[in-house]
Amino acid sequence: MAIIWEPTLDPQASAWRSIARQVAQDHVAPKAAEIDRNQRYPRETVELLYDCGIATMFLPQEYGGSGASLMAFCAVVEELAQACASTSGIVATLQLGAWPLLRAGSETQKETYIGAMARERKTISFALSEQEAGSDPSSMQTLALPENGGWRLRGTKRWIGGSGECAYYLVFAQTALGQGRRGIAAYIVDADAEGVSNAAPEDKMGMRGTVNSSVHFDTWVAAEAMIAGPGRALKLALEALNVGRVVVAAQANGIALAAFSAAAQRATARTAFGQVLIDHQGIGFQLADVATRLSAGRMLAYETARNFDTGKDVALIGAQAKLFCSEAAHDAVDIGVQVFGAEGFVKPSLVERLYRDQRATEIYEGTSEIQRLVLARAIHAEFNEEGA
Ligand SMILES: Cc1cc2nc3c(=O)[nH]c(=O)nc-3n(C[C@H](O)[C@H](O)[C@H](O)COP(=O)(O)OP(=O)(O)OC[C@H]3O[C@@H](n4cnc5c(N)ncnc54)[C@H](O)[C@@H]3O)c2cc1C
Repeated sequence: MAIIWEPTLDPQASAWRSIARQVAQDHVAPKAAEIDRNQRYPRETVELLYDCGIATMFLPQEYGGSGASLMAFCAVVEELAQACASTSGIVATLQLGAWPLLRAGSETQKETYIGAMARERKTISFALSEQEAGSDPSSMQTLALPENGGWRLRGTKRWIGGSGECAYYLVFAQTALGQGRRGIAAYIVDADAEGVSNAAPEDKMGMRGTVNSSVHFDTWVAAEAMIAGPGRALKLALEALNVGRVVVAAQANGIALAAFSAAAQRATARTAFGQVLIDHQGIGFQLADVATRLSAGRMLAYETARNFDTGKDVALIGAQAKLFCSEAAHDAVDIGVQVFGAEGFVKPSLVERLYRDQRATEIYEGTSEIQRLVLARAIHAEFNEEGA
């Protein structure tokens, strides 16, 4: 019996995980240290992810995808994250960019953009955050003003994943300053359009094989580019993040699994004071805690994905999964470095890279504090109702 709980996957999810495992072993893991060191977006890996179907597995079959479940997608992300967190981040970014269109796009919009993503490898990046609007996107300053029957988009988005590599941006913009969430609409914008430019990629602490930068918009889009109108778009962004959070939970679990496995191997091989490290209670107990939280985190993430696949609302359980798994991964990589001692502190070292990569899982798609905020509000609402 394995120490970490294993999910029972349906045949479809199991087949996807096998594909991911093979790609991870043959291609992704051997490149992980290099793309981290050189902060290089691995375009050849993205091509490979398209070739094997992973890049489009979550898109419906009618648009050229495979219609895979969230459970299958989480299994793939977890598997890739064990080999290279950045590569799992690239895959997660593809899904996040496409999701709002799948949810709210018209048939024509889906045929055009989702079809292009599946058949022409034209990816979509999710552009919500701004310098002054991260945790609180309703305060965004990017404007969408009516012009010549369409819209003029003006403003700068920050930290945008896949920027400079994607074909389209899914841009959230304010149509009426002062209206907060009620004024926010969403548009699909061609990355090559006049007036769209991106800054140099951010020099990140971790996830260095992914690309993030500011994207500046002073561009005109036709009326048909609107994906969701004022009053609907911010809700759509939050719905996309509700799903994205389950994916980040799976990614955090993958990172934690890699750290745990490395630390457990080290602790059973290296001796100090005449016995292997695992037999020193101070180390053995820490690894026991990591294993326990990893089992719990995997149960939470997979069960949340299964709930989503059966049509349930996962906003709250998804927030709990993201919060729990990212913080459990925090402890797993921290203990991983500790078990390796000085070797875990210097490059190149797997646990050193995992330590840096993990940190992003507590920040993007809603920080830990924002997950707690969502949950605290839900507790307030539920118990207030019961008391009333
Ligand atoms: C690697 C990476 C990739 C990203 N990719 C994308 C992308 O593809 N698209 C995109 O749109 N964005 C992206 N982001 C941006 C990300 O979503 C934001 O960084 C995140 O939402 C937090 O916003 P912020 O950085 O502005 O922090 P802030 O909102 O300034 O928060 C700073 C701190 O204050 C805390 N805080 C804020 N409000 C509260 C509160 N009410 N109570 C308690 N604490 C609070 C936060 O939790 C945080 O600890 C990415 C970020 C990173 C790091």
